[in-house]
Amino acid sequence: MERKCVALISGGLDSALAARLMLEQGIEVHGLYLAMSWGCCEKGKAVASAQALGIPLMVLNVGDAYVDVIRSPKYGYGTAMNPCVDCRIYMFRIAKRYMEEVGAAFVVTGEVLGQRPMSQRQRPLDIIEHDSGLEGLLLRPLSAQHLEPTLPELMGVVDRQRLLAISGRSRHEQMALAQDKGITGTSTPAGGCQLTDAFFADKVKDLFAHDTRPTTKDMELLTIGRHFRVGPALKIIIGRNELENLMLEGHADTGYTCIRPRFAGPAALVAGEATDGARDMAVSLILRHTKDSKRPSGTLDFWVTPPPVAAAAGGGAPNGAGPAGPRAGGGVNGALWRCEPPAEPIEATPAGVSHA
Ligand code: SF4
Repeated sequence: MERKCVALISGGLDSALAARLMLEQGIEVHGLYLAMSWGCCEKGKAVASAQALGIPLMVLNVGDAYVDVIRSPKYGYGTAMNPCVDCRIYMFRIAKRYMEEVGAAFVVTGEVLGQRPMSQRQRPLDIIEHDSGLEGLLLRPLSAQHLEPTLPELMGVVDRQRLLAISGRSRHEQMALAQDKGITGTSTPAGGCQLTDAFFADKVKDLFAHDTRPTTKDMELLTIGRHFRVGPALKIIIGRNELENLMLEGHADTGYTCIRPRFAGPAALVAGEATDGARDMAVSLILRHTKDSKRPSGTLDFWVTPPPVAAAAGGGAPNGAGPAGPRAGGGVNGALWRCEPPAEPIEATPAGVSHA
């Protein structure tokens, strides 16, 4: 068996300690960080952690298949929308593939027996190992002496006597070890997982209730702006500051139309078909979130990204809005769009989004 492993690196203390214990036994360690675009763990800390350990780090995005895992987890949810057991299985399946790719012999994680109620009790740990296809090859160095020996231990590749017997939710032993080994700057366990946050979970539930094929992009958008559910397949997102306005514009794509005022107001991203009604609704929401003193009188000018089809082809924008105009300023492909302010504000209810 090769003296080489893949270690899941989250940016947290436990994964750094687990990898360090392997390095101290002269085992080659390849770090793997799985990124969720909507925020989990801390990529910067994972990179710093790998650098401090002196190991290579592969960063991979979880991909749209992970959204299906969140939508229908075989083993259910934790306190919010966190499917921790299924999440670990998904991640370890990827780790197994990466292990095979780099020619490593086993996978290492910083899981601690009894630390988390859902995924780190004995039964879930067994399920995770079995369902990920890593039976005998998933080493948890921090709790190894409480667990059945793994193949690398049985084959003498890893010295079991030098592994630990940590269990439970107390962090004292890890903190003492971190001090002893000079490990600093790591984050707390699950500190950044948005799926454990009730506020974020409400938005996820609304997304799943209305979208049959949500993607990682839809999940990422849940972290940006105020969300208004204005139809079964239509949502309008309003930026809360200039950074979010730019981010919404960056998400403009087929099926996601960004309407950005040429006056000092927020950008709106129409997620769904940008019909005349949807654009009118977006304008109404933009005006509702624009200071009175900044609202222009008369005709309103916007950049639309991507440009409506007619405008993109060089013709007039829909809705009788006039010619496309120059394609710059509001975004790489933005087109100028003009409209009259609505006679009366259109009400948009944040239906299904309890924390809009
Ligand atoms: S806390 Fe989040 S990232 Fe961690 S196992 Fe649970 S769902 Fe996955």
